[in-house]
Amino acid sequence: MFYSHNSEPGFRQALVWLLAAVTLLASLATILHRLEPQPQWLDLILPPAMACAFAGLTLAALLRPNWSLSIVRLVVALGVLALVIPAWHYTIVSYRDPAITLVTIFPPITSLLLLLIMLVIVLFPPRSAFAVVLLAWGLISLPILAYLWLHPEELWSPRGKEMLLTFGPALLLLLVIAPFYQRANQQLERLKYDHVKMQRLAEHDALTELYNRHAGMRLLKQFLSRLEAGMVVLFDIDHFKDINDRHGHPVGDRVLQELARRVRKTLRDDSAVIRWGGEEFLVLLDDAGGQALQTIPERIRAVVKAQDFAEVGPVTISVGVTRVRADDTMDTLLERVDRALYRAKQQGRNCAAVEP
Ligand code: GH3
Ligand code: MG
Ligand code: MG
Repeated sequence: MFYSHNSEPGFRQALVWLLAAVTLLASLATILHRLEPQPQWLDLILPPAMACAFAGLTLAALLRPNWSLSIVRLVVALGVLALVIPAWHYTIVSYRDPAITLVTIFPPITSLLLLLIMLVIVLFPPRSAFAVVLLAWGLISLPILAYLWLHPEELWSPRGKEMLLTFGPALLLLLVIAPFYQRANQQLERLKYDHVKMQRLAEHDALTELYNRHAGMRLLKQFLSRLEAGMVVLFDIDHFKDINDRHGHPVGDRVLQELARRVRKTLRDDSAVIRWGGEEFLVLLDDAGGQALQTIPERIRAVVKAQDFAEVGPVTISVGVTRVRADDTMDTLLERVDRALYRAKQQGRNCAAVEP
């Protein structure tokens, strides 16, 4: 029903400010009408009622951020009511009593209609915005325009002309702004989409679709700053150069892809798998389960070894693992896990080594 930006924090903040501003306006209107020498009873009821309603909505928007959508609907409904009720009430009163003229008793709320139309255009998707604005305009403007049509002497008074110009061409606003806003919004959506796509391209390795080293550095920094228990695994394909030499580079590429798929599938979604170098991979794991240091490396090693790779047969990896320490920096952590991997290679490959 509404644009996706309605759930963003910036939107919620704007909504709170808007509601606070309307509450203030309604309160001012309440005071002004109280000071009037001969106030209309509706003017004594409607502004304070709106002030209370909008104060409540401001509080709700502040305290319940996920109610934003319902609040927006209520705001529009209240806005329409705040205009429809006086439009019909004062038109009927003036029509019935020839001594009363609409141009003198109608409160100065014509500009609210323009505000309401703008609000609907901005908050609703184009098609619903057209329907809502048409309906609101019809309900609010038609009785006033019909009255002015039947009372030309009022129509040609300064206030009458002002009301005609506001209520009559108010719809023009919709015709001018809606398509412009729609185009701007479409462009914004496309930019957002492109941004997500570019970010994905910039952070992922094209061959294996895993995180690339650039993203890996960022993730590792985050991982260290969270200061939770965690472990880091570094593994490297054994004798990969031979695979390339024997079967060719394209086959080597496909081995990398299949291996990445297998490892990704065997790990939980919240662990990051990074293509750290050519045939070297880094895995960041939350250690929430308090798993033994050997379990995960062993699982990774086993899933690679378990099945022969198409075109090349068995492929093995050597794995290094270490736990994150509270005083670790990126360098100390990487140095330790690198040492573990080196030891695994030294121990004859196809095995895991631990640096605690
Ligand atoms: P070790 O067991 O000591 O790790 O031996 P290795 O042969 O795996 O190690 P080495 O570092 O000598 O060779 C790594 C090879 O990986 C060399 C490089 O051509 C190859 N390589 C790196 N990136 C890619 C890639 O994207 N695709 C392919 N097909 N090969 C790659
Ligand atoms: Mg290797
Ligand atoms: Mg290597």
